[in-house]
Amino acid sequence: MKESPATILLIEDEKQMRRFLRVTLESERYGVLEAETAADGLAQIATRNPAVVLLDLGLPDRDGLEVINDLREWSAVPVIVISAREQEGDKIRALDSGADDYLTKPFGSGELLARIRATLRRAMPKTPDQRDAVFVADELRIDFSKRQVSCGSREIHLTPIEYRLLTVLVRNAGRVMTHRQILKEVWGPAYVEQTHYLRVFMNQLRKKIEADSARPRFLLNEPGIGYRFKPDTEER
Ligand code: CA
Repeated sequence: MKESPATILLIEDEKQMRRFLRVTLESERYGVLEAETAADGLAQIATRNPAVVLLDLGLPDRDGLEVINDLREWSAVPVIVISAREQEGDKIRALDSGADDYLTKPFGSGELLARIRATLRRAMPKTPDQRDAVFVADELRIDFSKRQVSCGSREIHLTPIEYRLLTVLVRNAGRVMTHRQILKEVWGPAYVEQTHYLRVFMNQLRKKIEADSARPRFLLNEPGIGYRFKPDTEER
């Protein structure tokens, strides 16, 4: 999959951070665009058509959350939020508003590049036969058409809710989903506050598909935010 390298837009007011991002991205031959303000960032998204946007939440002219809300009215460009630990609530709101992922500062270059690769893979249009095919990650296998899940040679019996929970996370593999997003997708919009449902069913599901449910390989906890299905061993 070595097509022409994607262009990535940085919307970040900290010069040091932009330099780190640029060096990291250019080492992988990505094209890099920079914006220091929300206004300039939005203008560049509209005119330069980047493949991914890295968005800082604390910008001088506008809040990053507003940028996402605005942007989602006219663009589906993948957005990875980069923010500091103390902005936990903001990260959840960013994801709920339509951000695709987030990275907490400080983060390493390896993690950044893995997230970008995962985001680009998800953004790639799928052909009709890829869409309903079989999903495989290590020993885990999901046949969507037959609604069958297996781990190695062992068939796994899931309840309808467990199956929906697993498939929602797998369809968003590599991406963190907030508690609200998962509850909405699996149980419905009336249940977005019922995080205890999610905890209970996640425990059940882990017991069924994880070799060691206390140290999950697939269903990762994102503390305070939600969960992430990890497709590849090398990612993170
Ligand atoms: Ca900032």
